[in-house]
Amino acid sequence: MARYTGPVCKLCRREGEKLFLKGARCFSAKCAFEKRSYPPGQHGLSRRGKLSEYGIQLREKQKVKRIYGVLEKQFKNYYVKAAQQKGVTGENLLKLLESRLDNVVYRLGFAPSRKAARQMILHKHFTVNGRVVNVPSFLMRPGDVVAVRDKSKKMGIIHETLRRVKDENLVPWLRLDKAKLEGEFLEFPNREDIPIDVQESLIVELYSK
Ligand code: SF4
Repeated sequence: MARYTGPVCKLCRREGEKLFLKGARCFSAKCAFEKRSYPPGQHGLSRRGKLSEYGIQLREKQKVKRIYGVLEKQFKNYYVKAAQQKGVTGENLLKLLESRLDNVVYRLGFAPSRKAARQMILHKHFTVNGRVVNVPSFLMRPGDVVAVRDKSKKMGIIHETLRRVKDENLVPWLRLDKAKLEGEFLEFPNREDIPIDVQESLIVELYSK
């Protein structure tokens, strides 16, 4: 599946907020957004006009795509699937994105960012229910267990990231077993248990035009 391979810090500057795409660096003084919080490019500083309604909806969609590292075509597919499900389409969309394997690996603290999680999944460092899965977009279902493969259990990046994970910060729809290096996807999350600051209804409005 295609993915964005350009400089990720530019994406935060473009969206005008920190999207936390780079793991530990995002919390350090090296964060590019802390140094330059205006949009990238020659006219970045002067390009700060009032956005139209369409512009606001578009920016919200771009932000969510960038947070989860999903390109337009795949994102639209998620939207179509979300619209076909029962319930609120915007919330369904976020639930689908949150159940991606790369997101779950990141949220469990096995990787410092979703981007790093994607890379590690592609390199076959994880199993789901005992089987190696190397597809970052694999959708987890309640009861699925993701585990670090035996051969990968000594990887420094996993232990470094896990050290920073506090049990109380873990989302309630995941269970983490630090000793076994595995985690369970307990249930699809409720909207209030998805810790991202976005207005998903704007994305629904955009696609409904
Ligand atoms: Fe965004 Fe992280 Fe880069 Fe800062 S360091 S600009 S939060 S990706």
